[in-house]
This record gives sequence, structure tokens and C-alpha cells, in this order.
Amino acid sequence: MCGIVGYKGSQNAIPVLISGLESLEYRGYDSAGVAFKSGKKIEIVKNIGKVSNLKSLLNDDANSEIGIAHTRWATHGKVSVENAHPHKVGKITIVHNGIIENYASLKIELEQKGYEFQSQTDTEILCALINDLYETENNLLIAINKMTKLVHGSYALLIMCDDNLNELYAIRCNSPLIVAIKDNDYFLASDVPAILKYTNEYILLENNEIIKVDDKLHIYDESLKEINKQTIIFDGDSNDAMKNGYEHYMLKEINEEPTVVKNILDYYTSDGKFNDNMPSFKKYKKIFIVGCGSACYTADISKSLFEKYLNIPVTVYIASEYRYQQLFYDKDTLVIFISQSGETADTLEALRRTKNDGIDTLAIVNVVSSSIAREADQVLYIKAGVEIAVATTKAFTAQLTMLALLVLRMANKENELKYFEDLSNELNKILKMDFKKYAKKIYKHENAFFIGRGIDYGLCEEGSLKLKEISYINSSAFPSGELKHGTISLITEDTPVISIVSDENIKYKTISNIKEVHARGAYVLWLTNKDENGDFYDDKIVIRDIHEIVNSILMVMPLQLIAYEVAYLRELDIDKPRNLAKSVTVE
Ligand code: GLU
Repeated sequence: MCGIVGYKGSQNAIPVLISGLESLEYRGYDSAGVAFKSGKKIEIVKNIGKVSNLKSLLNDDANSEIGIAHTRWATHGKVSVENAHPHKVGKITIVHNGIIENYASLKIELEQKGYEFQSQTDTEILCALINDLYETENNLLIAINKMTKLVHGSYALLIMCDDNLNELYAIRCNSPLIVAIKDNDYFLASDVPAILKYTNEYILLENNEIIKVDDKLHIYDESLKEINKQTIIFDGDSNDAMKNGYEHYMLKEINEEPTVVKNILDYYTSDGKFNDNMPSFKKYKKIFIVGCGSACYTADISKSLFEKYLNIPVTVYIASEYRYQQLFYDKDTLVIFISQSGETADTLEALRRTKNDGIDTLAIVNVVSSSIAREADQVLYIKAGVEIAVATTKAFTAQLTMLALLVLRMANKENELKYFEDLSNELNKILKMDFKKYAKKIYKHENAFFIGRGIDYGLCEEGSLKLKEISYINSSAFPSGELKHGTISLITEDTPVISIVSDENIKYKTISNIKEVHARGAYVLWLTNKDENGDFYDDKIVIRDIHEIVNSILMVMPLQLIAYEVAYLRELDIDKPRNLAKSVTVE
């Protein structure tokens, strides 16, 4: 959530900061701002809305060698220029990603000392706290270090001080921050796309390590000892973070799914067998799977495969609920955490709780060396490359593929890897199908339903979320047998119903439910891998039936493309839907 960029070097800092913010736009934000050295002073410019609104306020000839910039995703205080970052209190200017949980009590203490605040943000309080500590200590490094002992919450912070405008400071705790050097240029950012134009090497900060950039880069640990840190090499290229000719990142990313699936198979298997990249697992008596949003739906879809193949119970948890629930796990339980970014705050905290209780943990993540990847006992990377569009597509398909491989690994069913062979080809065939014709029948409506049973209900949850996220159509997923216990009252000619059938065992049951809604006048789009004719649907999309272990991976892409085409017809900002952020680093 939100983007942070800092720069010091030989180039004009302002375009570097702005293009850095642009490359982080996918993370979601509502306002943007920049602070830079201008002569002997610091100049702050901020605006609500897109980075382009900020740009329009900047003089074309603005020039500086050092600055910090921010896109804000409001958590404390409405979207307004006053609340946008950077914030300046006394001599200190900061940009902040995260939440200061104890800001209210800090505010009272600071007000007693005479501080007054212009914004409603927790960030301005943090800024005042650092200024206060700096006034006492007269040393910014010590002040920042002392701040960490007084603050609860999450932060990635870039800091400038009026007393030395040639220096940049940075620190993070539970919010991502990286630093990169190219020749004599120093870059700080929340994520890799902001630096890829310049370098693919970067350093990842641990919680409460402090960065100081003067004529060199200094990194200090929590005891303020200067340390050296290893550089990480980003193994994609900058094309990974660009649109490659597609109109939207979402479409580009859906089109990458055949390759992503192939990458996973190439990485974890060789000659039809699992290779050394796939760990082996002891026998567990229970599995919990934890995630947020789409990640949770990959778990709902995969649950019955785990249960069938391993003959053990599997419970799926929403991470924000899991943290505060009574959990009946023990040494024979494996808890799997799923997160694209590996920084999802609720999932990270759920992981920490589990580790604290001494339970085995496995992370399924995309972003290498992210917090969840580093903290879990074991990690499986989904190899999906950078995902920019806020609505996940290729990472979702990659997570499903990874979970299916995990089922086979844990069940010792390597012989079923053969069913994965045709997956990429089939996905390529789906990419060639026309989904616009179905979208035309949906896009003018304000309500929609997705119905299915079992695995198909999990697919419905994802299809419905995708449609809601990017088209703003109010859509709900329902287990199809449940509809007539209340919700069927909402079905009219004005509520399109997307019904999903991939499971042979419940085919006829679901078809009966489809007939119930069709009889009430709803437009029914039937997505299935059981080609059958009948009078219970208006349109039918037939996908190949390969085998239950991989079928759901094929069923997802049509749902993604339907949502895309509907949002396209509604002329919406597909890659950056309103109110949403890509990497949800607040709880
Ligand atoms: N909590 C801060 C605010 O509301 C920072 C939000 C963000 O991460 O963008 O301004």
C-alpha cells in the first residue's frame, strides 16, 4: 500500500522521484507529494488524486539533487492536501507508509509540549516525535533509534532534516523498504519497480535498521553499529514491470499465465518427477490454510483436493480472523500461508502467531525475500514475476498451480504430474476465446451472482471478487444449493448469473439450481467442462476437462477475462480500481 521513493545523486531528483512514484502507482493510493532541497530550504509540493495532479503543480525547471516522495493510501484522516505526505514538523520532514497504532497517546504528550498539528494523520505525530527527540539528542540517528522504542505499529519512513539537507535517512518496521545504489546515485523505495530503470540490485532492510545517505550509504543495526548487508539481484527484467504493448497490466498478466504455469512446472519438476526444489513433507494430521482475499479463495478451491488426496481435515482461515480466534492446532498440524506480495500484514501477523506457538509453517508467496517468505519455516515461490495490476490474476493461477503440486507432493502421487503437461496449451486456447460477447450481456447491470458447489463455489468466490474489484458491479458468490434459502428473492431479469460446473459428482444438483434462476428470468452464463446441451442457460463456455487436480486452474482464466471485459466496457481504470491497494501492508 502506498509508495515511497527517495533519491540522492547526480541526476535531477524531481523526475527520478516522480517516475519512481509512477512505477509504484499499482500499489494503490489517493494522493501524492514530494519534498526536495531547494537552495537552502526544503520545498514541499502535494496534491490529491493521481501523480499527474502532483506533476501539474511542479515547475518544469524545478531542480534538486535530493528528495523524498510519497503516494498516500489514507488510513488516518480523509483524502486531502493537508493529510497528504510529506509532513514537516520543526526541522523534520518525512514520508511514511504504515500505521502508528499509539499515535493518540503520543499526540497528547506532544501537545502538552506545545506541538500543534495541521493534519489528522498519525504520520504528522510521528514527525513531531522525531523532531522532539532530535531537539533533545541533537543527533538524528540517535533520535530515530529512540523513536523505535516509543512507537507501536508499522512504518517505512524516509526522513530529511533542515540542519543538513544533503542527507537522507530511512527506517522500516513491518512495511517494505529497499535501498539501491548505481554509481553515485542512491535510491530508496517500497518496491523493486521503482529502481529497475537504474539497477536490478538492491538491499533489503530488516526491521529497525537505519539507513543514512550522505556521500555514501551507511546502514546501522538496532544498536547503531554500522553494518554491511548483502545485495539481492532481482531475477526478472524491466520488461516484467512494463505493459509490453497490452492496453492494461491486467490483460498482460492474464496473457502471461501459460508461461507462469510452465515456469512453476520447470522449477519444481524435471522429467515428470519432483526435483530438489520441491521439499518433502512429513505426514500431518491436519492442515490450516491462511490468506486474505483471492489468496484465501485459492485455499477454498484447493481444500477438497487436499482432503481427498491426503484424507485429513483442512481448514481455511481468513488471516484477519485467524489472528484472534481459538486455534486447535498441534505438532501434527501444518499451517500454510498464502500471499502474493509476502507483505500482507494480516497474513504476516498470523504467521508470527503460529510460529510463536511452535507450529510448522509453510509460505506460498511470489515476492522473493519478502517478510512472509523469510519468516516461515519453509517457502514455495510461485515464480509469477512482478504483478502490477491491483486485481490479481497470474499470481492467483500460480498459487492454484502451486497448491495442486503440493497436494501431489504430500500425497506421493507423482504419477499424476502428467495431468499438468497440457495445462499451458489449454490456457493458450482459452486466451484466444472471445469473452467480450458475454461481457456485453453483463456490463449494464448493477448486480450479479456466481453460483456453484464445492470446488466450483471457491471458483465463484474468485470470479465474483474479480468482477466487484474492477467493474464495481455488486456481485455475490453463492453455493448454488443455498440460494433458495433466502437470496433467490434477489434474482430478476436484471441479475445475470454466472454458474460454474466442473465437478461431475454434483453436476446435476447444480444444474437444477441453475434452472431455478433461469426460470426467474435471469441471464445465465454457464461455465463448464461438461459439454451438455439444455435449455437451462443462455450462453455456455466449455473448457477442456483434463483431470480434477488441474481443472480449476483452467476454469479461473475465463472468470478473469469476463471481469476484464466488463470493466473495459464500463470504461473503468482497470489496473487501479478505486479504494484498492496492491500490497495490503496495513491490518
Ligand atoms: N497512516 C498514514 C496516513 O494515513 C500513511 C498511510 C500510507 O501508508 O499511505 O497518512
